[in-house]
Amino acid sequence: MPFVGPIATLIEELNRLPGIGPKSAQRLALHLLNRPAEDVRRLAQALVAAREEVRRCSVCADLTDRDVCHICSDPRRDASLLCVVESPKDVVALEKVRQYRGRYHVLHGAISPLEGVGPEDLTIRELLRRLEDGTVKELIIATDPDVEGEATALYLARLVHPMGVRVTRIARGLPEGGDLDYADELTIARALEGRREI
Ligand SMILES: [Zn+2]
Repeated sequence: MPFVGPIATLIEELNRLPGIGPKSAQRLALHLLNRPAEDVRRLAQALVAAREEVRRCSVCADLTDRDVCHICSDPRRDASLLCVVESPKDVVALEKVRQYRGRYHVLHGAISPLEGVGPEDLTIRELLRRLEDGTVKELIIATDPDVEGEATALYLARLVHPMGVRVTRIARGLPEGGDLDYADELTIARALEGRREI
């Protein structure tokens, strides 16, 4: 007999998370029900607090608990360099290297007709607005080296070229199809250094 009531609800909710199939959801639910109530409460509170306090930076769209994130509000960052990434985890990966001193723009995805993701679903309008005042001299496109990431890079390059901004693409010493967050620091540093105009 399948689980019913609150256990079934918990399994269902866990099953909605990415990478969690029905089996894993069931295993996690049973694990949680074996934990002391206090542990589970702490987890639940962490989930709710993160969801309620974390929002998108009003400038770069990275996740932050402030209106403007710590990178955008840091005057020591070079405002003439803007690195476009797909996801907040790419910002974390690039920041680990400590070589890049420019700013970021987080798209929150990549163009993917197959998955129904168009330019209007990403933060492209916000990006173009940031380029209007001429402060940004170089746009470094660091989207993933897969079909969607390349299509997004080309789309952005076409949009941005007429604005007189130099557009570069980071080099790919990265593993085939590899995301930035899987690459080691030396590889990321080389990818940045070897960026080429597109
Ligand atoms: Zn920001």
